[in-house]
Amino acid sequence: MLDECLLVAYPPDRVVSGGFGGKVIFCVLLDLPASRHQKGSAVSQSGLFMLARLFSFLANSLFVAVIVGVAVPGTHRMVLPGAYGLAEIAPRVWTDAPGRTSELLGLVEGSRDRVEGFFGDHAPRPTLILCGTRSCARAFGIGGNGLSISDIAVMTAPGGLTVGTLTHEMTHSRLHRAMGPRNLVRQPYPTWFDEGLATHVANHPRGGGRVTAFSRARIREVRRFWQWDDAFRALGVGRAYGSAAAEVAAIERAAGRTGLLELIARAEAGERFDSVLEEVLSR
Ligand SMILES: [Zn+2]
Repeated sequence: MLDECLLVAYPPDRVVSGGFGGKVIFCVLLDLPASRHQKGSAVSQSGLFMLARLFSFLANSLFVAVIVGVAVPGTHRMVLPGAYGLAEIAPRVWTDAPGRTSELLGLVEGSRDRVEGFFGDHAPRPTLILCGTRSCARAFGIGGNGLSISDIAVMTAPGGLTVGTLTHEMTHSRLHRAMGPRNLVRQPYPTWFDEGLATHVANHPRGGGRVTAFSRARIREVRRFWQWDDAFRALGVGRAYGSAAAEVAAIERAAGRTGLLELIARAEAGERFDSVLEEVLSR
């Protein structure tokens, strides 16, 4: 076994090794004193041994994560789209359908224009993964028509290659442009507002059930993203999006575009969403 180790310990019975698929990947060097019974050294020896084991565990976990990450389909593949056969048709715009370049770039430009027109500033430039085939969407773990990851990436399946879906996802990106680790925990906007704004700006998705006082009250209960699926089940997909969009449209009617943008900016800066909403609606 020692011959296979990258690092060899002495004495050899103290080698801590890590393996994957039956092969020894590395061993940790433990240059320990020969006597294990000297007073005072037992603690440091066992401490070293535990440290070495911990190192072994962490290094092995990392190695397995890299192997699994490369092999398993999922959204993490957006980090290296070129490695999975996608072509870059414009800076950070990737697709498996480079033959449709002018059509796709037209969709991207049209969607960006709508987002920038609404917010009145420059939209972020997330990495775009535009899948023209189902196999591409599967490879990148795109379940529905589209998804966004903070302001880092927007990914669409073939059904999402529309100005509606791209505008919806790019609105999420713009709203999340300040999402660092702090905001991922804090979530400055309730989910009903996040989805409602994206649907309102894109006017998509639409249809699928009547929006009522009941459905609007139900959607306002969705404050965290993990509660969104329950609302889907209770209201239906179209009615959930429609109700959330109706809430945001009502804010804009009452407070104007200026009031709506002020709400977004102040929540982004750290103020409590509900307090600012109350304030802009009471003017
Ligand atoms: Zn959405």
